[in-house]
Amino acid sequence: MTELQYMSTRGNAQPVTVSGAIAGGLAPDGGLYLPARLPVVEAHALDGLTSLPDIARVALGGFFEGDRLQPLLGEIVEAALDLQAPTTPVEASPDPLHVLELFHGPTAAFKDFGARFLAESLERLEAGGPRLTILVATSGDTGGAVAAAFYRRPWARVVILYPRGLVSPRQEQQLTCWGENVTSLRIQGTFDDCQRLVKEAFVDASLSSRHRLSSANSINIGRLLPQMVYYIASSLEVERRTRLPASYIIPAGNLGNAFAAVWARALGFPIGRIVLAHNSNRTVPDYLQTGVWQPRASIATLASAMDVGNPSNMERLRALYPTVDEMRGQLAADSVDDAAIRRRIVEDYAEFGRIWCPHTATAAEVYRRLPAADRRDRPWVLAATAHPAKFPEVVEPLIGGTVEVPSSLARLLQLPRRFQDLPPTLTALSAALE
Ligand SMILES: *Cc1c(COP(=O)(O)O)cnc(C)c1O
Repeated sequence: MTELQYMSTRGNAQPVTVSGAIAGGLAPDGGLYLPARLPVVEAHALDGLTSLPDIARVALGGFFEGDRLQPLLGEIVEAALDLQAPTTPVEASPDPLHVLELFHGPTAAFKDFGARFLAESLERLEAGGPRLTILVATSGDTGGAVAAAFYRRPWARVVILYPRGLVSPRQEQQLTCWGENVTSLRIQGTFDDCQRLVKEAFVDASLSSRHRLSSANSINIGRLLPQMVYYIASSLEVERRTRLPASYIIPAGNLGNAFAAVWARALGFPIGRIVLAHNSNRTVPDYLQTGVWQPRASIATLASAMDVGNPSNMERLRALYPTVDEMRGQLAADSVDDAAIRRRIVEDYAEFGRIWCPHTATAAEVYRRLPAADRRDRPWVLAATAHPAKFPEVVEPLIGGTVEVPSSLARLLQLPRRFQDLPPTLTALSAALE
């Protein structure tokens, strides 16, 4: 069988198979890995399958062709994707509106799917070898999901860097409740400082001679692949229910989740339109409008996990759709400010009885801005990327009540916090890594 090669978006790195791309994260030339071709998935091969692991085994098989992880894909997805991701109709809506609930994992955000798949894949590549130090700069949800996924795996150490005072109290709890092989560093700086420190650590010769450093952010293809699976499952379910392709509105930051939806559609699954909902960080909506790609510094919003001014996965999207017109043929995007996020949480709770997290509220707002005929004529699905119980400070005053906490989250909220305070310097980080 021929093997599927993964190439760097920048074209100056040796091709690798999927395990090389997963273990490497970033390609050595600084680009992002993409497969040389999109595998063919026979739609009928999924007939009758509904669980995420079953769908994943078939739909992801081609991506692992010729790789040493291929025979292990079944057990990887069995362990990683044993999560619920239901697409539920919004009963109170007069139009065919649905919600893809991506918040039923251990840390109540969609990042759990990618982090768990990455951990199970790396387990099968790294266990028994020298210990891997996984550096994670986080603005909120990634760090918790990665910590939960790698906790108590002796071949890995997770080091989380998060900005002091800039994550929600419950997010901070999820970043600091672990101990054992997870170290939490509270950085006196911004998220950009945390990211800069991680980059500096990677290029520092003395650090990389003493530690095997790796990263787990959404540039890793091992986080994108499993995210396709819930779009495939969801689109097939909506098609069964409505006989029409599902259109998705996706809260977007680094575009990892959105990229997975675009890929699922490219594989041939019944997905109609894909619309990105950004917060006030407008880089992508502005690009689609003006054709000028202009990354900028991020600004802080209520949907903080989407506070990204230079979305990393745009490099993958632009590799696939190089001109702005090609990109416009694939995606639309809109921007939602904090006032509109608040208003949407209030109004949709009153009208639908649904409680959105601030990120999901951007998608709900973009939905409301669609022409009425559009909302009536095709089934729309909002990707609900986090549970509202992660953001009670924002959500509870708006709905005038408390949000029930899912049991997995409640358990984490009771654990003691452990963290180290650190200035935003490489010297301090180096000392903390010893
Ligand atoms: C990370 C995150 C996003 C943004 O996802 P990307 O893949 O970075 O675009 C949206 N919502 C929540 C809750 C997140 O944690």
